[in-house]
Amino acid sequence: MALWFEEEQGGQARKFRVERTIYQAVSPFQRIDIVETSALGRMLLLDGLVMCSEGDEFIYHEMMAHVPLFSHPKGRSVLIIGGGDGGTAREVLRHPSVERCTLVEIDGMVVDACKAHFHQTACAFEDPRLTLYVQDGIAFVAQSEERFDLILVDSTDPQGLAAPLFGDEFYRHIFRLLTDDGMVVAQAESAYFQPDQQRAVLARMNSLFPRNYLYQYFNLSYPGNMWGFALGSKGPCPLLDFREVDLNASGMEFRYYSAAIHRASFALPAFQARNVAGLVTRFA
Ligand code: SAM
Repeated sequence: MALWFEEEQGGQARKFRVERTIYQAVSPFQRIDIVETSALGRMLLLDGLVMCSEGDEFIYHEMMAHVPLFSHPKGRSVLIIGGGDGGTAREVLRHPSVERCTLVEIDGMVVDACKAHFHQTACAFEDPRLTLYVQDGIAFVAQSEERFDLILVDSTDPQGLAAPLFGDEFYRHIFRLLTDDGMVVAQAESAYFQPDQQRAVLARMNSLFPRNYLYQYFNLSYPGNMWGFALGSKGPCPLLDFREVDLNASGMEFRYYSAAIHRASFALPAFQARNVAGLVTRFA
């Protein structure tokens, strides 16, 4: 009999046929599963929710990393909050301009599990430019005196563990730690299932940053398949300052990201644009 894993969201459910369970544990913070699915290969689940899969993690991780990195004039120092699977860090570290990448993950067991069973993303931890802190992200930003060109908030959903990563205090520290032309990108949920969350994270960013945006990606493993990132900027505009010439000259190859996708990702469906009206900076 086939085994299925089911994730329910907003009265809908998604099912993935599971070939075998590779890793299962309960950390002090959450339940951690790594399973082999027939549709998307290995899949990391935290508290029963899909975090990433071998088959489509490139979409989320390319879009979280390359949109801000090709919008910032020269991202040298990057802070990632969460991201314990390593996928966002892997994409960030593909940029030769990045001299140091600091990753702050509250749950060391997630990192260890991915190093052991999800090398496709955890390979990032072998890069000497990466420094890992196993710590609560809010505690790290509150005491840090470092400066970062980019801060990427690659967290779980805004409840429980990750709740403080969507709060005012956290963003006040983010603003303080960013350089004068720094940018923050945060995982901003789904327009279909969490429109309130999208508005809330943008409202928080608006209270601090002069420029704020929402951009989209479409993957297979998240409910509704259309999810967003919120971007707050102290200076650069992700379209007007998009370094397309540098992208073309970089010789970097991607599976989802491209110059066209960079631009198109900021186009929002009408219902979503109305939901965040007044919270997204116009591209003038
Ligand atoms: N791409 C995924 C998504 O969109 O849901 C996120 C992937 S990553 C595995 C999320 C990570 O955030 C988890 O490993 C979790 O332990 C971490 N996390 C949650 N709350 C945190 C906090 N307060 N400080 C640092 N890391 C946190």
